[in-house]
Amino acid sequence: MWAGGAIGGAPALHKPFFQKESLEEKKLEGGFKCAGGWGFKSTLFLKEKRARKRTFSWVFESPSRSILFIKNKFFVISMNKLVLFDIDNTLIKSSKVKDSIAFPEAFKKVYGVEASINDINAHGMTDQQIIIELMKLKGIDEHKILSKLKDCMQTMIDSFNRVSDQDEVVLLDGVKELLSELESKGFIIGLVTGNLEPIARGKLKKAGINHYFKVGGFGNEDINRVNLVKLAIKKSEERFGFKFNKNVFLFGDTPQDVKSGKAAGATAIGVTTGIYSKEQLKEAGADYIFENLEDTNKILDILIH
Ligand SMILES: [Mg+2]
Repeated sequence: MWAGGAIGGAPALHKPFFQKESLEEKKLEGGFKCAGGWGFKSTLFLKEKRARKRTFSWVFESPSRSILFIKNKFFVISMNKLVLFDIDNTLIKSSKVKDSIAFPEAFKKVYGVEASINDINAHGMTDQQIIIELMKLKGIDEHKILSKLKDCMQTMIDSFNRVSDQDEVVLLDGVKELLSELESKGFIIGLVTGNLEPIARGKLKKAGINHYFKVGGFGNEDINRVNLVKLAIKKSEERFGFKFNKNVFLFGDTPQDVKSGKAAGATAIGVTTGIYSKEQLKEAGADYIFENLEDTNKILDILIH
């Protein structure tokens, strides 16, 4: 965090400059227009700190942006906006080893049954949901399913780690460019995924994009996807000290992604890179729909304005 697109050609900041918590806060009424040509009018909060080498710096905050002023230069240090992404079929093509090796191995070892996730429509479901629904389908007693749920998740993670070298992860079109743009403009980028966190991180590392995602809600943390969105927002607010209010966006390829984003108060952006059509995502309540994440400028237009 704190990396930001600089205004007026000044270099972007890439390292934490100071701890926000240590700043003395003063309230300042008025408007502000920065050197980059755009401006905003709102109640501003002036935060002041004597930084290293006796240099003064200020952080100006509006509901949507934080701007650092130092040595006569302005830097956008954060857009105060949170952009959340689903993983499978939104950022990457689904990893094969999780579905074909990790899930079946865990079902066999922990519950003693042969099962494939193809036996149900697992799209948009959290991993905990998949385990519970599939084991119910195989006739396993619900008490037994829940009592061994943690074991099953851990067995999946161990199995995935053992075979992840064999996995092929394909990055979807436009993903890297969009993430890079979002990072350089100071957006906070996170995940909302049904994947268990070690598996999610493993897939993204393989795709070379794990470092973009500072926070997230993961399948091991809750069975319910709406709660995962809320959790990702809560973690982000705690970590970065912002209240995002309406400035949360969620990208996903399934109606469940869209519905959970809307239920948590986010703007839901559907992508038709999975199995669902534009009409299905629209019916689920998507605010915007894209064929893929290639049109960086159009997407940024939505996120910025
Ligand atoms: Mg997906």
